[in-house]
Amino acid sequence: MTDSFVTQCPHCQTSFRVSHAQLSVARGVVRCGSCLQVFNAARQLLEQRQGQQAAPLTPLT
Ligand SMILES: [Zn+2]
Repeated sequence: MTDSFVTQCPHCQTSFRVSHAQLSVARGVVRCGSCLQVFNAARQLLEQRQGQQAAPLTPLT
């Protein structure tokens, strides 16, 4: 069981790790920490792989 997901910014393709709680905030809308664009993390979820690098993401509140 894991409470974290990996999502990818559709603007710059940077991967981020998000928790279920973060996806609940603002209905999954987050701001990319790399390019600062806003996107819906819940719609950009990636299949999580072992060892995949993913930066923490700041939820848009
Ligand atoms: Zn981005």
